[in-house]
Amino acid sequence: MAYFSAPNNPDAAIITSGLSKTYKGSANTPPKDALKSVDLTIPRGSFFGLLGPNGAGKSTLINILAGLVVKSAGSASIWGYDADREMRAARRCIGVVPQELHIDPFFTPRETLELQAGLYGIPEAARRTDEVLDAVGLSDKADAYARSLSGGMRRRLLVGKAMVHSPPVLVLDEPSAGVDVDLRRQLWAHVKRMNAAGTTVLLTTHYLEEAEAMCDTIAIINHGRLIACESTPDLLGRLDAKEMLITVDQDLAAVPETLAASLAGHAVELETPRRLRIAYPPSSVTSGQILAAVSEAGLEIIDVTTREADLEDIFLNLTRDPEHIAGDAA
Ligand code: ADP
Ligand code: MG
Repeated sequence: MAYFSAPNNPDAAIITSGLSKTYKGSANTPPKDALKSVDLTIPRGSFFGLLGPNGAGKSTLINILAGLVVKSAGSASIWGYDADREMRAARRCIGVVPQELHIDPFFTPRETLELQAGLYGIPEAARRTDEVLDAVGLSDKADAYARSLSGGMRRRLLVGKAMVHSPPVLVLDEPSAGVDVDLRRQLWAHVKRMNAAGTTVLLTTHYLEEAEAMCDTIAIINHGRLIACESTPDLLGRLDAKEMLITVDQDLAAVPETLAASLAGHAVELETPRRLRIAYPPSSVTSGQILAAVSEAGLEIIDVTTREADLEDIFLNLTRDPEHIAGDAA
């Protein structure tokens, strides 16, 4: 794995080591192991995705970092500060945009940001309220009641709230939930600019395309366990699966036997009478070899398209295969 987990790694924005959380059960609910010994190192400057289905443990991890949930075991550090022993310093280095869109409806965006700055003990002269309002595109709504803000504006206000103390690490927990496409695009553009300007961004999502499009590094979590953590291209490359759709010049009743024989070991199917679908591992066979095999089977090629593996495939692959999971977690 490319990321070291030395506890004092100065290149790390966040390190968790053996981080675990068991929510106590009650009379009718059993205890829940929401995080199981998670070792994670998030490099400074990265745009890091924590990807996993609902219930995987993403918010639990974020909320431990934010100081909202008490861990059961392990340790966490933020920007080199231990989240327990140096709690105040650690908190100052992180801004968290929570999953829930909770905003006090009776405060304006300006008041909301001022209050938050007050909570961090930032003296009035040092506050950046107007700058933050501008950064999240709410300058013209600065003095409007928060209850009159749309969902997207509220989300941006929460992003602003997480930024008032200029933390080097910004955490967004499922920021796309309930945000329409246009506003999502605006939010992403803004967060990307912040990342380009040096802010480390940790994003949780269950949208595979989102992690793929936004993040340079992706960790996958499922049932409280970390099952992968790699650069996005490496993760995509690991699946080693591509698919080629080849349209030919004649209707076929079945995959020609000569073709099936020359591509033995690869899945060759007839999608329509004129279209072949061939799944292959690009590390051991080239698309040229596949096209040659189709030509040699006496078929003229009219059109070709290929499809790369996406995170959906990788995710299914990783979560289905316990051997693989055990190997990765080691
Ligand atoms: P995610 O954010 O990935 O959807 P969560 O961290 O919210 O996952 O939840 C992980 C697991 O812990 C889920 O099974 C959830 O039901 C459980 N859980 C979360 N919060 C609590 C809580 N306060 N009390 C009991 N169980 C909880
Ligand atoms: Mg969550």
